[in-house]
Amino acid sequence: MKYALVTGGSRGIGKAICFKIADAGYHILINYRRNDQEAQETLNQIISNGGSGELMKFDISNSTEIKASIDNWKTKNPDKHIEVLINNAGIRKDNLIVWMKEDEWSDVIKTNLDSFFFITKQLVTDMLVNKYGRIVNVVSLSGIKGMPGQTNYSAAKGGVIAASKALAQEIAKKNVTVNCVAPGFIKTDMTKDLDEKQLKQMIPMNRFGNPEEIADVVAFLASEKASYITGEVISVNGGIYT
Ligand code: NAP
Repeated sequence: MKYALVTGGSRGIGKAICFKIADAGYHILINYRRNDQEAQETLNQIISNGGSGELMKFDISNSTEIKASIDNWKTKNPDKHIEVLINNAGIRKDNLIVWMKEDEWSDVIKTNLDSFFFITKQLVTDMLVNKYGRIVNVVSLSGIKGMPGQTNYSAAKGGVIAASKALAQEIAKKNVTVNCVAPGFIKTDMTKDLDEKQLKQMIPMNRFGNPEEIADVVAFLASEKASYITGEVISVNGGIYT
């Protein structure tokens, strides 16, 4: 049995990623923060599709919680290791910079950028020792081109892109790859307050994407087939030019 950790795996894009990676034969560690019911439903669905998994509740913005949770799993599973890490969980707290409060900036940076460091650091050593690993980070169009009203989010996602490129070069020789997938506008709880009718006019395909359209690319990058791709950012955004 092979093991994969998907952060924010309970809902939206993360949930679709859990299903695809479970289909590829991985036991999925489904991370989430609050919504126990959604997380349990995701796990139940994986099991009813013939897969396996377990819940791993921790706040990705809290390094102490992350370490405690992963250490606890490793203690209970001494002969197993996590070979796929999908850093997917994220939040947005949009505001124009003139109105942006300090906590709107720091919450988004902690959750979307610092978490990359905290979680990756916990798992990458085992990948290097085992000479195999896949790290896929779900970033955003916003982190490539910048979006007005999202200086915090653009900075965080842009930071993950730069960190991924650096880490990819650090560890490529050990057969551990690090790549990013940059969604555009995808139909999830995160975008339910957006005006799709108006925003789709800027998308060449004239529609928002579905979580499965992101998950397919993530699952490929997380597979053995993506063995010669590292340090890349793949946009999945319906044709918006970046
Ligand atoms: P979503 O529907 O809001 O789901 C967010 C997921 O992340 C949930 O499982 C949530 O868990 C979890 N989460 C949030 N904060 C967390 C924390 N501090 N610790 C642990 N888990 C946490 O979001 P989504 O739209 O699927 O987005 C997934 C990723 O794609 C994010 O990184 C987002 O920035 C990126 N993205 C999304 C879009 C889009 O259009 N949707 C576009 C570009 C990039 P709970 O259920 O427990 O809250």
